Amino acid sequence: MGKKDRNTPRMAFASLRDMPGTRVMFWVVDGCPYCGERHLHIAGNLRMADPGESLGEYPAPCDPSRTYEVALTPRPKRKQSKEARRKARRDGKDEVLDDDKW
Ligand SMILES: [Zn+2]
Repeated sequence: MGKKDRNTPRMAFASLRDMPGTRVMFWVVDGCPYCGERHLHIAGNLRMADPGESLGEYPAPCDPSRTYEVALTPRPKRKQSKEARRKARRDGKDEVLDDDKW
């Protein structure tokens, strides 16, 4: 068993879209790591509890001999941390209020 670097799937970041009028959801890969084109993968339907379960390795439509790993597009950190900070502040407010009264 040698190294399998050549076969290691590349990451393909995707966003979840639903098709209007249907319950079908797709993972939309905006930039294929191999050809740069957009590819779609069926993610399941809206009744599925967790479409994330359909993430993972797929053969690249442009080159079936290669695979890529479909993963959620990372969200911008700033937005996330801002919300987290606001939530933390909100959650901690009651405790802080007690301190302010003293
Ligand atoms: Zn491709």
